[in-house]
Amino acid sequence: MSDVRFGMAIDTITCVGCAACVIGCKTENDTAPEFSRDWIYTLLEGEYPDLRMSIRSERCNHCDDSPCVTVCPTGSSHYGSGGSVQVNPDKCSGCKACITACPYDARHIDPRSGAADKCTFCMHRVEAGIPTTSCQEICPTQSIYFGDLDNPESEVSRVLATRDWFVLKPDAGTKPKHFYLK
Ligand code: SF4
Repeated sequence: MSDVRFGMAIDTITCVGCAACVIGCKTENDTAPEFSRDWIYTLLEGEYPDLRMSIRSERCNHCDDSPCVTVCPTGSSHYGSGGSVQVNPDKCSGCKACITACPYDARHIDPRSGAADKCTFCMHRVEAGIPTTSCQEICPTQSIYFGDLDNPESEVSRVLATRDWFVLKPDAGTKPKHFYLK
C-alpha cells in the first residue's frame, strides 16, 4: 500500500468520552490487561460558570517524521503500509528508546512479550480489506474518520477540507497524521 497515506481524524465536538473506542481496540487487538493503545483525554477549561470541557480519543499519531522510528536501534519500529508506523515485536529488544522519544506517550511495553506496543491503525484489518479501524467501527457517535489522506475523496480528507482542525504538539516536528476536528 505504497500509494496511500493513512490518517485519522477525531471530532472533538461529538466525542462524548464513552471509551467505546478503548474497549473496541482492546477487544480487537488483545492488548495487555493493564495497557491500552488508545485512551480518552479530557480537559476542563475556564472559570465557573464559564466552563468548557474538551474530550477527545487519542492514540499514536502515526507521524510522518517519527522519532520512535529514528531512535529504534534494531529496526523494530518502522514505517509500514500506507505510511503507518508499526512495531515488529520479534525485532524489539525492549530498550524503551521509542517510549522516551515519543512526545505523545503513545507507547508501552507489553509485559507479556517484553516488546513495545501501540496503535497500528488496525492494519491487519485494512490489509484484509476491511476499510475501518476497530475504534472507528464501534464509535457510537461516529466521531472517528479514517482513510487515505492523499485521496481528496476519502472521508477523512473531505472532513479535514471542510472543518477546522489541529494536531497535538506541532512544534515537535513529527508531522502527525492524527487530527482533531474543532
Ligand atoms: Fe511514534 Fe509517538 Fe509519533 Fe506514534 S505518536 S509515530 S509512537 S512518535
